[in-house]
Amino acid sequence: HNAKEQGVDIRRYIPAMQMKAKERLKLENDLRRALERDEFYLVYQPQVQLETEEIVGMEALLRWNHPKRGLVSPADFIPIAEESGLIVPIGEWVLRTACLQNKKWQEAGYRPICVSINLSMRQFLQPNLAGKIGSILSEIGLDPSYVDLEITESMTLDKETAFEQLKRLKELGVFISIDDFGTGYSSLHYLKNMPIDRLKIDRSFVAEVMEDSNNAAIVSTITSMAHHLKLKVTAEGVENQEQLQFLRQQRCHEGQGFLFSKPIRAAEFEVSFLQSSMLGMPH
Ligand code: C2E
Ligand code: MG
Ligand code: MG
Ligand code: MG
Repeated sequence: HNAKEQGVDIRRYIPAMQMKAKERLKLENDLRRALERDEFYLVYQPQVQLETEEIVGMEALLRWNHPKRGLVSPADFIPIAEESGLIVPIGEWVLRTACLQNKKWQEAGYRPICVSINLSMRQFLQPNLAGKIGSILSEIGLDPSYVDLEITESMTLDKETAFEQLKRLKELGVFISIDDFGTGYSSLHYLKNMPIDRLKIDRSFVAEVMEDSNNAAIVSTITSMAHHLKLKVTAEGVENQEQLQFLRQQRCHEGQGFLFSKPIRAAEFEVSFLQSSMLGMPH
């Protein structure tokens, strides 16, 4: 490579990199105002008991409707929210909104189901998280046993802190799930000692479960381990009947994925799932 070639590269790529940093800053500023401007909403995805195909839960997933860009993916804005600390007020909004929705549905007379809420690292590390969640739940009047908090394996790397935090959350009476299980660093030691209730098998393993025998082995092993440890096990990203059959054979308890439904708005969820015969009409 001569200097001129390198010069061309530099002229071509540095402005692009600056743009990226600028873009990011812009997005962060927009994110800062998104709460007060009411640009967030939640969608809900059903969680289905595989044996009966009954709906037993729903996961609340955050959506950002940007005034100029339209819908921005959580994969793009959650990391920015996390790094800037904005995830704390945003996460609190998610928790409050999802719990309020669940309470409303219970008051309307639908059979109660659990709502799963994703926690970010920053939220999880808040010293008074359990106290905060506890007061939100009592303010809303929602029984903590209808709330499931999803954390990831990476949040438990600092074992002492994670253990204390999880213990306080369990004392509150909420359910704890490990999301994207199998993609992190968890050891068997941690599984044995952490006060958790459920493993959610990452969808990357479920996706190719019929084509890739390694994935089949992983799904099968996680499921059987969950049974032995008396943990619930849910498969993420169930997209077709073959996967469903396989998961049933493995005695995986629950599934979530496009086969059952994409994540949808509350009004649609109510019509499609709560009012249907699967759950029974309001009494
Ligand atoms: P996650 O918690 O693992 O959520 C599951 C993701 O898989 C969702 O993507 C969902 O739309 C997608 N999904 C569900 N079923 C299928 C399927 O059958 N096939 C495929 N290909 N995908 C499926 P989404 O909504 O884009 O969310 C991505 C991630 O963003 C979530 O992964 C979660 O880590 C994060 N996230 C979403 N909402 C929140 C939130 O309120 N707070 C925090 N901290 N993170 C959130
Ligand atoms: Mg999740
Ligand atoms: Mg997941
Ligand atoms: Mg995931």
